[in-house]
Amino acid sequence: EAKAGGRNQYRMFDESMRNQREEELQLLSDLREALRCGHILPHYQPRYSPTAQRAIAVEALARWNHPERGLILPSEFIPISEKSGLINQIGATILEQAVRQRCEWARQGLDVSVSINVSQRQLCDLDFAGMVQRVLEDHGCDPKRLELEITETLLIESNPVVSANLAKIRELGIRLAIDDFGTGYSNIARLNEMSVDCIKIDRGLMQGLPRNEEIVRLVIAMCNFMQVTIVAEGIETLEMAEWAQRNGCHELQGYFYSAPVSAEEVECLIQGQVAAAGSGRRRHPATSGRAVVHG
Ligand code: C2E
Ligand code: MG
Ligand code: MG
Ligand code: MG
Repeated sequence: EAKAGGRNQYRMFDESMRNQREEELQLLSDLREALRCGHILPHYQPRYSPTAQRAIAVEALARWNHPERGLILPSEFIPISEKSGLINQIGATILEQAVRQRCEWARQGLDVSVSINVSQRQLCDLDFAGMVQRVLEDHGCDPKRLELEITETLLIESNPVVSANLAKIRELGIRLAIDDFGTGYSNIARLNEMSVDCIKIDRGLMQGLPRNEEIVRLVIAMCNFMQVTIVAEGIETLEMAEWAQRNGCHELQGYFYSAPVSAEEVECLIQGQVAAAGSGRRRHPATSGRAVVHG
């Protein structure tokens, strides 16, 4: 009986594997359809600058606007897109829409940079940097107003295609940021050699405050040594915002300021900050950028 039970278990396992595979295939075909219909779009999360007293940049984050299910978050479709290679098309449409939006804002007199997440798979595409260049040219976008976020593990990569893409991106004047810094095992020497423009300190590190205060201060000191822009991720409370500002983070990002929201909502939010900063109203330095937008 033990054997039969084992066989049954095996069959159940086999079946659940098959179901999972079928679900994945269905998800992929739905995703392709969503891409065709323009249902994959960026939402934007502000990066607040205490000096400018407003968000000077926004991060584009992919959303799937599903006709029945509503907004679907990246955790449900980015991993499978990376596995299947569909991330190249998703990345391209997010880039295109975000660059177009940035230029639209610039025409209205609102100067905001955009940052885009780029995955390993995209950087392995021979034409990646060329594609980015074409999108910038199509919209007449200043390359300095675009930042590409990559993870630190990509820097250790010895893939020649990745290196060539990164070199071309630097050459074009596009900014390079290290996302989720502090979660991987960085090659610090390589990081310094790469002379990236920006380091985004991972939300997990920031949320370990004040317990890990000494470590985060050391990370900030290292970033200052490298002369990069320091972004603190995952700022959820006034205490965290004040700490990050006091300790020299240049830009603050997190739910305390705003969750990622639609283009219209983020525009509204930043216009409000511009107006408030212009009126010279003195407010609490850390709270002045706070908005109660949660989407
Ligand atoms: P990420 O690039 O590190 O983006 C930050 C994530 O943290 C976002 O999740 C954002 O909503 C969330 N977040 C921001 N502030 C806070 C906060 O104060 N507290 C908490 N708990 N979370 C906060 P989201 O939008 O679900 O994206 C998850 C990840 O999916 C991103 O992490 C990024 O790695 C990936 N992703 C999103 N869009 C794209 C894309 O267009 N292309 C690629 N390749 N990856 C993407
Ligand atoms: Mg990011
Ligand atoms: Mg990330
Ligand atoms: Mg991040």
